[in-house]
Amino acid sequence: MSVNGSGPAISTMSGVMRQKQPETYVLRLKAVAGDLNIKQLKRIARVARRYAKGEVHLSTRQGIEIHHIHRDNLEIALKELREAGVELGASGTRVRVIVACPGEQVCKWGVFDTKRIAGTLDSNYFNRETPSKFKMAVAGCSHNCTKANENDIGIRGAIEPAWKAQDCCDCRLCIKKCPVSSIGRLETEDGGYRYETDRDTCINCSVCTMHCPGEAWYVARKGHNLFIGGTMGKIPRFATPLKKMVESEKELFLLIEESMAVYRKYARNRERFGHMIDRIGIEKVKEEILAVTLVKVKKRTAEDARLDRKIPESAVESG
Ligand code: SF4
Ligand code: SF4
Ligand code: SF4
Repeated sequence: MSVNGSGPAISTMSGVMRQKQPETYVLRLKAVAGDLNIKQLKRIARVARRYAKGEVHLSTRQGIEIHHIHRDNLEIALKELREAGVELGASGTRVRVIVACPGEQVCKWGVFDTKRIAGTLDSNYFNRETPSKFKMAVAGCSHNCTKANENDIGIRGAIEPAWKAQDCCDCRLCIKKCPVSSIGRLETEDGGYRYETDRDTCINCSVCTMHCPGEAWYVARKGHNLFIGGTMGKIPRFATPLKKMVESEKELFLLIEESMAVYRKYARNRERFGHMIDRIGIEKVKEEILAVTLVKVKKRTAEDARLDRKIPESAVESG
């Protein structure tokens, strides 16, 4: 069976899974960052009513699955879904649908536009073959609602706080609120005081900048904290920090590209990224990813500068 009589059999496609009941399948649907519009939802409901049991299942990764579709109805069900812009998700040894929280568009804690980053990851990587399943999650801040650290690639919005003396009333609230006890109060030689954060232990979470009554803590820089090698499943592993406060998206995407290249280079068949990291050593993995990325960032920056120089001013002015 195939769509329009050509291409792979639907029952073997990524996103289509055989159930325990004979001749019965699950359709796993794609919802990048968990988003679907009303037209898509209505069509999913129609397909579930016509070809399944009139209900859907919400997966742990923001997806919708329609269960109990008979093999004979797979083709028509998929055709009707696609007419409304609903595509299949992924299964097997591939990059899965990208998970993301609402981010700065909606949430007061959001540091960056998670949906846009998820969209780019989707365009670049969705359904690409990998040595084992490969999951990515984007969280707009260190509250980490999408559990970025349980994914092969996890991105968390990050801020770097800075302190200014003139706005501080010495209430010590920030010391109480910092979730990792990263803030300290130091006596100064002139009999005064200053507040400091330990950059190594700070998790870039915005709690100090959000709660400081006088805005003495302020956001000095915004960026992304990038984690690699997280997984749940049979052998859970928390992701390892790869780099903190990555400010440019160009660097962020190069780091992700290189992380995947290193995974492909060293992973055994069906070995998860994190387990590969533990086998060959995090230092080696980090060194390789960071060194190659640094060279590429420098090269691209030089190329961009060269291109900028080539654009005549008249062209810029005329738009
Ligand atoms: S991770 Fe942060 S930005 Fe995203 S929903 Fe949670 S609190 Fe909001
Ligand atoms: S919370 Fe703000 S005002 Fe209070 S001690 Fe900390 S920096 Fe100063
Ligand atoms: S950003 Fe978060 S972890 Fe860092 S100093 Fe402020 S409250 Fe503490």
